[in-house]
Amino acid sequence: MANKDNYKNYFYVTTPIYYVNDKPHIGHAYSTVIADSIARFKRLSGYKVFFLTGADEHGLKIEKEANARGITPKELADAVHIKFKDLFGMLSISYDRFIRTTDEDHIKTVQLAFFALMEKGDIYLSEYEGWYCTPCETFLTDKVLIDGNCPQCGRPASRVKEESYFLKLNKYEKRLEEYIESRPEFIKPPFRKNEVLSFIKEGLNDLSVSRTSFSWGIPVPGNDKHIIYVWFDALLNYLTAIGFEEFLEGRDNDFNLLFKTANHIVGKDILKFHAVYWPVMLFALDLPLPKTIFAHGWWLMDNKKMSKSLGNVIDPIYLINNYGADALRFYLLREITLGLDGDFNMDNFITRYNSELANDLGNLVSRTTAMLQKYTGGKLPGFGEAGSIDEHLSKAICNITSTLNERYDNYDFARILEETFKFINTVNKYINDSAPWKIDISSPEGKRNLYKILRSAVVSIYCISYLIYPFMPDTAARINKILNVEAFAFFKSSIVPENIFDSHGVLFKDGHKINESREILFPKIINT
Ligand SMILES: [Zn+2]
Repeated sequence: MANKDNYKNYFYVTTPIYYVNDKPHIGHAYSTVIADSIARFKRLSGYKVFFLTGADEHGLKIEKEANARGITPKELADAVHIKFKDLFGMLSISYDRFIRTTDEDHIKTVQLAFFALMEKGDIYLSEYEGWYCTPCETFLTDKVLIDGNCPQCGRPASRVKEESYFLKLNKYEKRLEEYIESRPEFIKPPFRKNEVLSFIKEGLNDLSVSRTSFSWGIPVPGNDKHIIYVWFDALLNYLTAIGFEEFLEGRDNDFNLLFKTANHIVGKDILKFHAVYWPVMLFALDLPLPKTIFAHGWWLMDNKKMSKSLGNVIDPIYLINNYGADALRFYLLREITLGLDGDFNMDNFITRYNSELANDLGNLVSRTTAMLQKYTGGKLPGFGEAGSIDEHLSKAICNITSTLNERYDNYDFARILEETFKFINTVNKYINDSAPWKIDISSPEGKRNLYKILRSAVVSIYCISYLIYPFMPDTAARINKILNVEAFAFFKSSIVPENIFDSHGVLFKDGHKINESREILFPKIINT
């Protein structure tokens, strides 16, 4: 077990677990890239991070898809969950565990939790009569039906009558309302909080948490005619992954420290499950609630919802193969403010790529290394030769880093990237304005001036690699390699940008050589 004293704090971040009835799409990439970026930043800031993603493998939808393919549900899950792992590998996702709801420890956790709540009386057996949407696996009341159709998917609901276990939601309604109202950090962005509150205020009916109409799932302990509702099963993955079972057995682990720091990243379509049902389950289990549930928006394609039937689905693997993982990560996080819907437009993707990645960032790195080759043969002028770093640049970087923690905590990634790229332009402008190619280097003063420009540009690029690292980790690594510094030396607290402008001598010692960069970071896309 890790020594807790080595970490200033814990940080637990999760993505939704993904249904294995179909291959991954851009929405899966999006949730996971958001979680990866914040996980990387928190690690950088000295937190002990646990980053969880995984696959939701139970339920009728999986059973049906497997039947259609003539294989077992487990065979389907085995095949499809690999596609998610492959995509996450291509996207450099730094997860600590990829959980599957068919994992043995998870099945145990779900049964333990279900049993505990039956014992407590918060889960009880009764009979359900009403409407049911099979594709959504959801019971529906008369009130929510739209012309007899499911409000979520629009398909016709069917009339059912069956024995079912129920979770007492009503019992915890008031407590949940008060909890949400008194904690602004619990549901983000803030406008989502009001949506959840108005849903709760309409009144919560007890939730059916078992099904008898199919068999692919976790049986109710002691009554295996009943399969545990797929959402009850799925939500508990957040406990399984950090050792809930060990914790219950009284074994010392990080469960308690981690869980209360949880940040659940979810799509807005599944907010209700996370902000209503999940907290009630945790109240009933006498556990603390996660710190934050962050609901992001959807990607539309040319302002229409992506769907297979419209044929306007963007394949993340196609984008990665053609433009690189970091270009996709960048676009997803830069284009829209997290929480809002965004429009995925290929022309816009290419424009951003060419102007910001290829022209602004790519050019800055290549022109700086080219200048070093030309004027010093790649040797970085030492601190003594160059003197202090340009003050304007050091101030600009400090302005960005001083707001980073707050911006990350608010998932304000687009703003961080905007400011970072503004800084990149500031450095480009600094080089243009100081025009090293015009400097007369025959005088000691001219030479010193040139050296200062070169050193300021290199230290600035190093800071840029730190700022983009959570969003574009591979690009940050490539820049570090060009600068010939240890990969991600900024994990050492002595050389983070807050003090790099004072202590750049630590990282870039006298005689430091910058590698000649022959590779182009972002080759321009010629739009055909
Ligand atoms: Zn439905």
